[in-house]
Amino acid sequence: MKVVLQNLTKIFPSRDKKSNTEVVAVNDFTFEIPDGKLVGLLGPSGCGKSTTLYMISGLQKPSSGKIFFGDDDVTELSTENRGIGLVFQNYALYPHMTVLQNILFPLQNLKGADRPTKEEMLERAHYAAKLVQIDELMERKPSELSGGQQQRVAIARALVKMPRVLLLDEPLSNLDARLRLQTREEIKRIQKETGITTVFVTHDQEEAMSISDVIVVMKLGVVQQIGKPQDVYDSPENLFVAKFLGTPPINVFSGRVENDKLFIGDEAVLDITGVENQEVTIGIRPEGFILDENGPFSCKLSNVEVMGRDASVVATSEASLNPILRAIINSDNKVDTTKETVRFSVKPHKVFLFNKDTEERIYYEVK
Ligand code: ADP
Ligand code: MG
Repeated sequence: MKVVLQNLTKIFPSRDKKSNTEVVAVNDFTFEIPDGKLVGLLGPSGCGKSTTLYMISGLQKPSSGKIFFGDDDVTELSTENRGIGLVFQNYALYPHMTVLQNILFPLQNLKGADRPTKEEMLERAHYAAKLVQIDELMERKPSELSGGQQQRVAIARALVKMPRVLLLDEPLSNLDARLRLQTREEIKRIQKETGITTVFVTHDQEEAMSISDVIVVMKLGVVQQIGKPQDVYDSPENLFVAKFLGTPPINVFSGRVENDKLFIGDEAVLDITGVENQEVTIGIRPEGFILDENGPFSCKLSNVEVMGRDASVVATSEASLNPILRAIINSDNKVDTTKETVRFSVKPHKVFLFNKDTEERIYYEVK
């Protein structure tokens, strides 16, 4: 089931009675979520991810715009009639019910022709429990489960209705690091197995990158970029997106383009064409540096952290807009830590230019 968002906007009235500033939580969001795919909605806290999800679910009504499931306009349809499964950060299971009763609950609430027979309900509950691998725990109460297991029950409860669309709002945030990793693999597997169109909300870029077929990066209610995770990482359209994706984060410098040379400070680090002389903001991914004695870019060496396969060279540069810069190199390369200065050349496809004021990407060609 594809889901179409058409100029979706949500404006909240001011919470503060004295000021009249309303909050545009989601601003003119248009996107077609492809059938059977997992879309990651990604952005910092407050950027409108949950509001978007709630509008898809019907829990909140858009101020303007439309939502389609397939060809059906569902904008005015109630949550119960949309055929969605919802999972929140806090699993919100019924504490006095067993796992089985929790999973059965949404089916027992169905009325009329939608209500399955008792046997069908049990069959579906067991199928959903098997999918999320909790079928051995059916008689337990939620308090007898770990956080990860509770979240699986919540997912099973969302799946049991056989939803047309699965909506997950930061479902892993309450889990510890190891469970988070494991559960996100599980969600990916379940999504693939069931083929249910899924929207997954998170503020964690690594989570979104690892799990999503497509990511949507948002900032202050406005979509910044949509694409396959690797494509967005490899070609960010603005500085915000470049900074939001990647660990360690991208290194940012002030620099300038002068007569087909790209300068960081006084050093010309690349020969480029296609950009007029101007001051620019430069982003260089940590893996974009090559250790090179004769390289054009010098910085002040702070220290080297060797971590198995990779080494992280920590340095400072006057042109850097962050306190430190970090280059990730293969740990086979030995850095002379007795020296004060370390020199690099740069990989052009890891170097991005942005307009100094608008922060929009400036595209260049390498000479
Ligand atoms: P996210 O899920 O990305 O953290 P939200 O969608 O929850 O962001 O919120 C987006 C913006 O809308 C925030 O500025 C938030 O304060 C505001 N907001 C969310 N819900 C309401 C509400 N019910 N009333 C007023 N403002 C709200
Ligand atoms: Mg939220």
